[in-house]
Amino acid sequence: MAVERTLSIIKPDATRRNLTGKIIAKFEDAGLRVIASRRMRLSQADAEAFYGVHRERPFFADLVKFMISGPVVVQVLEGEGAIAKNREVMGATNPANAAPGTIRKEFAESIEANSVHGSDAPETAANEIKFFFRDLDIVS
Ligand code: ATP
Ligand code: MG
Repeated sequence: MAVERTLSIIKPDATRRNLTGKIIAKFEDAGLRVIASRRMRLSQADAEAFYGVHRERPFFADLVKFMISGPVVVQVLEGEGAIAKNREVMGATNPANAAPGTIRKEFAESIEANSVHGSDAPETAANEIKFFFRDLDIVS
């Protein structure tokens, strides 16, 4: 399998509960390497642009409000099949459906406050990485 890069976001519900280390350990235990990392606060415009594909969904306004409610940690993860592997470690969007041992099963509060984001395909991964990081800030 090819080495890939994917974008991860540790969401405000997780930073608020001081879970960043526990979540990063899950990535590392799965063989993913953190090759760029930044703690930041998303602006309303950032969050609206990042989740633009969901603009028409009924939960969009709430999702944006949640994503700007506290700090996030944006990261680039690298590894064999990193995009799918990260989604596997994250678990299903709704924690009620997430498999045992996944981040969302162990830590998520709800379908909205579900602790992590992960890119869902190669093209979105490339675009989402570019949204947050310059090439110079990514060190593998
Ligand atoms: P993400 O894109 O954050 O990695 P995902 O790909 O599992 O998660 P999406 O369908 O892309 O899920 O939804 C993006 C985010 O919107 C979810 O992670 C969650 O925070 C929120 N969300 C999704 N569905 C709902 C819903 N029905 N009600 C409230 N919030 C939702
Ligand atoms: Mg998604």
